[in-house]
Amino acid sequence: MRFTKWTCTILMLLSLGAWANGQAQSDSPKPDAGQAQPVATTSTAASPAPTVATPAAAPVAAPAPPPAPVASASASSQPAAAAAPATMDQVVDRFIAREKALVELLKDRTPVVETYMQTVKADSDLGPVPTGDKYFLGHMDLGEDIEHRTYLKDSASIQKHLLGGMNKLFTVQYKPLGFSWMIFADRDEFDREHYEFKFIRREFLGDVRTLVFDVTPMKGTGNGRFLGRVWVEDQDFNVVRLNGTYAPHQRNEYFFHMDSWRLNLVPGYWVPSYIYSEEGDFRYGQKNKFAFKAQTRMWGYDLKRAGKEDELTQILVDSPSVQDQSAAAQDASPVESQRLWQQQAEDNALDRLQRAGLLAPEGEVDKVLQTVVNNMIDLPRPVRCRVLLTSPLETFSVGNTIVLSRGLVDVLPDEASLAMVLSHELAHIALGQNVGSKYAYNDRMLFADETTYANLGFRHDDVEEQSADKKALELLKNSPYAQKLDSAGLFLRMLAIRGAFLPGLLNAHLGNPIAINGEPTRLTDIMNRAPQVDMNKLDQIAALPLGGRVKLNPWDNKVELIKSAPVALTSVREKMPFEVTPFFPRLARLNVATDVNATASAAMAPAAPAATASAPAVPTTVTPVSASNQ
Ligand SMILES: [Zn+2]
Repeated sequence: MRFTKWTCTILMLLSLGAWANGQAQSDSPKPDAGQAQPVATTSTAASPAPTVATPAAAPVAAPAPPPAPVASASASSQPAAAAAPATMDQVVDRFIAREKALVELLKDRTPVVETYMQTVKADSDLGPVPTGDKYFLGHMDLGEDIEHRTYLKDSASIQKHLLGGMNKLFTVQYKPLGFSWMIFADRDEFDREHYEFKFIRREFLGDVRTLVFDVTPMKGTGNGRFLGRVWVEDQDFNVVRLNGTYAPHQRNEYFFHMDSWRLNLVPGYWVPSYIYSEEGDFRYGQKNKFAFKAQTRMWGYDLKRAGKEDELTQILVDSPSVQDQSAAAQDASPVESQRLWQQQAEDNALDRLQRAGLLAPEGEVDKVLQTVVNNMIDLPRPVRCRVLLTSPLETFSVGNTIVLSRGLVDVLPDEASLAMVLSHELAHIALGQNVGSKYAYNDRMLFADETTYANLGFRHDDVEEQSADKKALELLKNSPYAQKLDSAGLFLRMLAIRGAFLPGLLNAHLGNPIAINGEPTRLTDIMNRAPQVDMNKLDQIAALPLGGRVKLNPWDNKVELIKSAPVALTSVREKMPFEVTPFFPRLARLNVATDVNATASAAMAPAAPAATASAPAVPTTVTPVSASNQ
């Protein structure tokens, strides 16, 4: 029976093209009994491959008219069927109008925004390496003004949380909007009165043909205007990427640079999804200089409609045929009642996390994780797995469900290290340590999303942690991963090397931390048996950069595993364990026919009104303050 399960495992993993990143997908593998073993995982860093920026044509002197917009979906939110622009001036008018429509679409949305920033210094061998980090998580209110409500209780503002440790060099002026301001070039005054637009060339971004424009603020229109470049798709003329900074700035002011990407998640609109920011001089020998890299992700745009209302509607429609299947059964026995009670607590907690925008809906990634779990244990009550949407490396279990953070799944080098992480939580489940039945009471689920971390927690005490580790070792020893734990141990060794510099990434918000003060807390026996980390060995990959495995849909929060082919590393500087890298999503147009939900959501979006006059754009400004001031 083990073997049957194994075959299934291998087929599933391969068919999902998933954990075995870049494995051949065409031939169905026919493993014989002797070869039942974990799926071979290429230990090649799955860093996002730059797949874009293929200029389609050389710059042209006289801009050719863009192709006519394809008459595609019939969704009501589609841009008005205007005639194809005949000149670049008309194209500019179109994307200015589409930008206003996007501001309008998003004004009643409160997406989750996460920024993870690493300060870096140059290492002579490894290039820029992290020296510290900061983490911010909040809701962004895109109404009249962009505002934040933080999930993290010890931070009143993004200023304190992201830049608090850097007061010696920078202070944030104006509103503490941080990096997420950069979802728009200019929220209120992106128009011809304030900007000059110059067509540069055509270019493919992924599957999407774009028109590239340089954007410069008009003289005398004030500080903090967008200065840079926009990419505009050639069907509806939405901006799909912005790259630049804000200018002019006064002598003691400073604006971040940004590379801001949007995805076509609803018909007719491209929704802000990723922002990469980088500042400073990363070259070796640049001492005492402030340098950082930061990733900002937005998600949960459709949270308001993802709740129970839809389900209730369905039940009402179906009500004549709904029958309680358990009607004929007896009352639950005491043991059954206890289990049902715990199930209720588990379901409540997971449902609440999902509604708070912190947990992905059930999906294909869960199945991959569950398959690895099933290789280690066979329990009467099946173990479920779910993905937490945040970056900090975190894992916990609630009832019979194991939750792994997106960031943790990203950085694990292979299937055996994934099994190691899962084994500890699996041990808690096998030992019956996940009681937590207080969440069976629904009043305990009534709290504001931003207070989730204060209201939910799934931590174990030291005694349970140690007994879980002991049990986990036993599970691993009797699993197909028993002979493959070197990579898992290497992962822990790398965690020990880098952990001290990455408190923001290792601060667990709901479960027990996997490292404290940089020291791994779990399964250190596996670490101690592993080979030493050799930073200069190109083929030894102990941990991956962030963002290489899990792809998150910012509209509906669904996650999937990235199916990109592994990239051969050319230098040890590309190993980048636990590090932040730029974003290069492969842009593609939404397939309207297959996404009914998105169509429905977008259909409820308001029509584009005229821009409302309000205060001028004031993005985050940081002011360098001399170190002697502190
Ligand atoms: Zn634990």
